[in-house]
Amino acid sequence: MEPSRPYNAAPMARDFASLTTSHDGSRALLLEPRRPICQGDLPLDTYDEAMRPYAESYLHLPDRTPETVLPWLDQFIEPALRTLGPQVLLLAHFYMGGEIVKLVERYGGSVADSYALALLARDHEADHIVESAVHFMAETAAILARDEQSVWITNPRAGCTMEMMADPADVQPTIDALQHRFGDDVVVLTYMNTSGALKALAGRTGGAVCTSSNAHHVMAGLLESHPDARMVFLPDEHLGRNTAHRLGMDLSRVVKLPAPRPGVPALADMSDSQLEQAKVLLWNGHCGVHTIFTVDMVNHWRAEGYEVHVHPESPLDVVNAADGSGSTHYLWNVVTAAKPGSKLAIATEGHFIANAARVGKSRDVDVVHLADVPDEAMAGCGCATMSRNDPPHLAGTLDLLARGCPPEAHRVLPGDRVDHATGQRVRLPDADRQRLKSDAATALHRMITMTESAS
Ligand code: SF4
Repeated sequence: MEPSRPYNAAPMARDFASLTTSHDGSRALLLEPRRPICQGDLPLDTYDEAMRPYAESYLHLPDRTPETVLPWLDQFIEPALRTLGPQVLLLAHFYMGGEIVKLVERYGGSVADSYALALLARDHEADHIVESAVHFMAETAAILARDEQSVWITNPRAGCTMEMMADPADVQPTIDALQHRFGDDVVVLTYMNTSGALKALAGRTGGAVCTSSNAHHVMAGLLESHPDARMVFLPDEHLGRNTAHRLGMDLSRVVKLPAPRPGVPALADMSDSQLEQAKVLLWNGHCGVHTIFTVDMVNHWRAEGYEVHVHPESPLDVVNAADGSGSTHYLWNVVTAAKPGSKLAIATEGHFIANAARVGKSRDVDVVHLADVPDEAMAGCGCATMSRNDPPHLAGTLDLLARGCPPEAHRVLPGDRVDHATGQRVRLPDADRQRLKSDAATALHRMITMTESAS
């Protein structure tokens, strides 16, 4: 299937103000004139067949400035949005690479953290939800969507490496072994960054999902409603430990599980006394983007007069050394509410900080990446997999959707297992999918109820 416009369509001449004016004028993330879109071009062979013509056309553009890229995108996206009308909802996560978040906002979409994205997907009436995000976010939308709504991801190869560290095939034997030992007194609390299969597992144990913005509310609620249970926290050991610490739990009762071995319950390497002592068992997963931060970096920037705020996927000693810690929503608020003249060092994903730095600069707030310290080999990095959602994927997905021939590999259904190297997915049989969707939705709704009743 070819694009609806010629591959080498010449950009239409339009002034920058008219190119960047948003639908409702309320965008926080502004494109800058002549500043190239900060997104490395992907090799052509990483695009699936349906996306390749759009990629070829994009790669032939003379540069990546908004003056060139926006007219190129408009020729596909504006007609697509006219055809789809209010029946399409565009979503993107704050961590998306390059200017994609700005492009999604420009075309009337919403940019948010994963909790807000889940609420938007739950509450919206659109027939089609199109996410520029990683797979677990789009799958969450598919779990909360009504059966007649369809959910699409702009690049099916965009996965989350933390999600991949908790393979349901490894987690289930561990839960089975715990239930064998403790009966029903086992509850699973799973971070949003997991597959639908693990959200469903949480739902079946009476557990819930959480995000970095509400993990303390949800963990506290489950500890209260399951006073005698062992809690398994999936998949991020750091968020689990930081949350238990924030709730005042004795950390000798917060135990990290050994790294999983195929087919072997993670408990196999734990002694009886360790298991008896444990109240919260942390899965052995982490985010490589957030585990580069150190206390030395905090000390460096504080000595330079900066306030330090970190994401709770960072290690506990870094969280303890910082001035504050919280979700992407919290970090964004810190930047936008800072007084002119403030100096902020932020520890989280690199693309988010680049956008925050530009917003801060417009208000005389200096924002730096915590890992960007002199003489440090490891500079702050962005989430490489999120960056796979680029302009050709956004244009191609919307164009083909409006023309009634969207690529099936971009449609996200609950329980899909995705090969992130090829983008191909294996679907569950209908009955299994409905069961998974129902159990996972139970865990998500518990999160929403606990969060709303705590605020
Ligand atoms: S930043 Fe880390 S946790 Fe977030 S999507 Fe990327 S790999 Fe996953």
